Amino acid sequence: RLKKAKATLLVVGLDNSGKTTLAKTIQGFSGDAEQLQEGDILNVQPTIGFKVEKVDSPFSKGLKLNIVDMSGQQCYRELWQTYYEDVQGILFVVDAADHRRFSEAREALLGVVKHSELEKKPLLLFSNKMDLRHAGTGAQVAKEVGLNDLANHLQRAWRLQGCSAITGEGVDDGIKWLISQVK
Ligand code: GDP
Repeated sequence: RLKKAKATLLVVGLDNSGKTTLAKTIQGFSGDAEQLQEGDILNVQPTIGFKVEKVDSPFSKGLKLNIVDMSGQQCYRELWQTYYEDVQGILFVVDAADHRRFSEAREALLGVVKHSELEKKPLLLFSNKMDLRHAGTGAQVAKEVGLNDLANHLQRAWRLQGCSAITGEGVDDGIKWLISQVK
């Protein structure tokens, strides 16, 4: 049951994909960062290309989100990995409206699903910003990020979910699914 979930989820994706907005939506916030109260983000270490936030969610006091920004220099990848072993589920966020960065997202996703620490961990792929008119459809996004070619690395529970971190559409469904898969 959701209320009893004790899990740490890894929220990954390129910069600007909507990870922070999504985390706030999951927390039950809407609107801008000013609405966040002190203490909601327990640990923030902003550095160029590397950011981790730990967030408590009202879904459950036991649910933590570790947010890792996957953009930027390769050298930060070593750092991201230190957060991998402690997570039970992966939430990969793609900006469905940013067609120019699909290949970059694809590379980042590949790096995540290939990582040995993340093997077999359930993966929720959020195709975010579906509220935007020029957002790709689920099928387009799946194709662009190479889901079809990832079969070898996708030996785990996974799901593609269209969502909007702004309107909240699809977010609950996705998160509930991911939590249901967390062992
Ligand atoms: P992060 O860098 O991955 O944490 O991305 P942010 O959460 O900071 O979002 C980047 C930008 O995209 C901000 O201007 C958000 O308001 C916007 N954004 C995030 N999610 C959505 C969405 O679902 N729909 C729309 N239209 N904009 C979004």
